[in-house]
Amino acid sequence: MNEFINFLKITGIDFEENVDGKKLCSFRVGGSVRVLVRPKTAKQLAALYEYLNENEIKNILLGRGTNIVISDGGFDGAAVSLSELSSVDIDINDENCIIAGAGASMANLALFACENGLSGLEFAHGIPGSVGGGVYMNAGAYGGEISQVLKSCLVFDKSRGTLFVVENSKCDFSYRHSVFMDNKHLAVAFATFELNDGDPDEIKAKMDEYKAKRVASQPLEYPSAGSTFKRPEGHFAGKLIEDAGLKGYTIGGAQVSEKHAGFVINRGGATAEDIKDLVAHIQKKVKEKFDVSLECEIEFVE
Ligand SMILES: Cc1cc2nc3c(=O)[nH]c(=O)nc-3n(C[C@H](O)[C@H](O)[C@H](O)COP(=O)(O)OP(=O)(O)OC[C@H]3O[C@@H](n4cnc5c(N)ncnc54)[C@H](O)[C@@H]3O)c2cc1C
Repeated sequence: MNEFINFLKITGIDFEENVDGKKLCSFRVGGSVRVLVRPKTAKQLAALYEYLNENEIKNILLGRGTNIVISDGGFDGAAVSLSELSSVDIDINDENCIIAGAGASMANLALFACENGLSGLEFAHGIPGSVGGGVYMNAGAYGGEISQVLKSCLVFDKSRGTLFVVENSKCDFSYRHSVFMDNKHLAVAFATFELNDGDPDEIKAKMDEYKAKRVASQPLEYPSAGSTFKRPEGHFAGKLIEDAGLKGYTIGGAQVSEKHAGFVINRGGATAEDIKDLVAHIQKKVKEKFDVSLECEIEFVE
């Protein structure tokens, strides 16, 4: 690792050592991450991955950490954050399009669209992740999802160090799924969204309406990763969990939210292990009772 640190210093790539995992994920759990790296340019990104690949250094790509849990033992490798690629701007070739860096927050993207009278991203305002993370998992809410508004993205191939454009039709989008989930060597660097003209006041009103719905139904006062499970076909995960009698069920500091059973929350002092155990318990009970397999949406980083 010392040689890697020297490489980062020489190349001028921003980094931090031994970062508390609790600061990197919305669940506020996890051990220390050995190095957090924040490349600013495509050149730095290419140099970084060339080094990581050649030296076989374990690495993960981080968005805003709102759908991951870092293990209690921490991560003894490099967590690459694209937070420096966070520009959001109108596409000079098409004023109905916005180009956003992978590290921009979905909230900022939605607000920028609203300010510019562009409609289509209202659903994204309350999703706390990054643009890259949103494209990766085809994030969605209230009937909207990324696949409906993404035109294309500029993708970085970590194994080859190349950048290329992937059109929406090639993203293999489906419910909470994209081509990037099956091709972990690809990182979304920028995304272009194609939107419709709209009235900023109406867009704002829609965003406020969605926000009020979230506040009323979700346990936003506790750390979590949002909905813990994907929606199983023909069911709602929260309803199945509630009907299995698991509302409020607690393991250590992790609890099935009493407000919304679809959320596992950190009631205080939860560990990554508590969350993992609770997820496994819920899956077992729901399977036993309803013969439905719940697929966990959260990714556990070991
Ligand atoms: C309170 C709360 C509410 C939520 N509500 C919703 C909701 O309504 N709808 C919804 O869909 N989700 C929701 N989520 C979950 C989460 O915000 C989304 O899944 C979001 O898209 C994750 O983005 P992220 O940047 O945090 O990704 P991270 O958690 O950092 O990473 C998740 C995965 O994405 C990959 N990834 C991140 N950036 C890139 C990139 N640039 N290129 C390729 N892969 C990348 C990572 O490697 C990792 O595998 C909610 C979460 C919370 C905490």
